[in-house]
Amino acid sequence: MFKLGLTGGIGSGKTHVANLLASWGATVIDTDLIAHQLTAPGGSAIDAIRESFGPELIDMNGALDRARMRELVFSDASRRAQLEGILHPRIAQEVLRQAQEATGIYAVFVVPLLIESGRWRDRIDRLCVVDCEEETQIARVQARSGIPAETIRRIMAAQVSRGERLAAADDIISNMANTSLSDLEKQVLVLHKAWCNLA
Ligand code: ATP
Repeated sequence: MFKLGLTGGIGSGKTHVANLLASWGATVIDTDLIAHQLTAPGGSAIDAIRESFGPELIDMNGALDRARMRELVFSDASRRAQLEGILHPRIAQEVLRQAQEATGIYAVFVVPLLIESGRWRDRIDRLCVVDCEEETQIARVQARSGIPAETIRRIMAAQVSRGERLAAADDIISNMANTSLSDLEKQVLVLHKAWCNLA
């Protein structure tokens, strides 16, 4: 099966693009969604997180306290590596399982840290980057979640730069401040047709 990697910085529009591709028949495997499931109440990463980080990182419902963990790992790289050590192998296992069951025209792997993690490039046939200005990333994430701008900047500082991401891309979707959702959809449709041909 043809495998597309879809990446982009926080708030760039990956999820929106992935939803369009899914609605047109691609199988979307979203590592962010998998990470959320692993850290939801009863998720398979909860016990390991409690053991490594302490019960104060788990909320009353038994889910990861996301805001607290965000503040911790984006101010301390070693804690971030520790969390990744818990999550990444579990995510990889679930990605493999979903990929084996994929029945779409092609598979899309949505991976926020695809370029950073290094291991992904040889698992995909083509890499698409969703690009936007850094200020737009901050504005979109704030509008959606209310995460403080300072925290968003620290998350962005832990990701590769916009330039490095663009340099690694085979295809680029431009989702700037002035890109309307219908403009975005038109761009994605052109690429989707090309990927269908490759598939
Ligand atoms: P994250 O890495 O934080 O998960 P993401 O890359 O998946 O983010 P989305 O969730 O798709 O990004 O988009 C971020 C927010 O910006 C969403 O609320 C989305 O609806 C909005 N958005 C994305 N693109 C546009 C656009 N062109 N016009 C208006 N709103 C947009």
